[in-house]
Amino acid sequence: MFRGIIKNGIRNELLLKVEEISGQNVFNCYQCGNCSSGCPVVEYMDITPNQVLRLSQYGASEEILDSETIWVCSTCLQCSSRCPKGIDVARIMEAYRTINLRSGIGKINPRKIDVSAANDIPPILLVSAMRKLTG
Ligand code: SF4
Ligand code: SF4
Repeated sequence: MFRGIIKNGIRNELLLKVEEISGQNVFNCYQCGNCSSGCPVVEYMDITPNQVLRLSQYGASEEILDSETIWVCSTCLQCSSRCPKGIDVARIMEAYRTINLRSGIGKINPRKIDVSAANDIPPILLVSAMRKLTG
């Protein structure tokens, strides 16, 4: 019965998509906080990595799609390596970004980049940002 509730209620369509893309089961998280305590950019996030997992479990994935966190994440994999439950948190972050990007929602608009400032940015950084942050 409980599994049925999760399947039809909390595990909504959006979360199923996140789990399909990431290959992770968010319900394995027991909120130890190891992921967040090791994240080097957590102070710039509006939702911490462990909160991403908790909100996902509550069926509140829409809030994560609207968050700064998924764009701030640098994909350093620290969270994934620290999780005692073997959850690849970075892949979950990536899944949320991917859903936005597939909808044409990105973090930066290439047309609005200051060309003069771009000359001071290493090309590899620009290419990386374009791939990761533009829809
Ligand atoms: S992969 Fe992202 S969420 Fe995980 S520790 Fe690195 S920056 Fe933080
Ligand atoms: S480290 Fe793993 S189990 Fe702990 S809060 Fe983060 S995702 Fe959940």
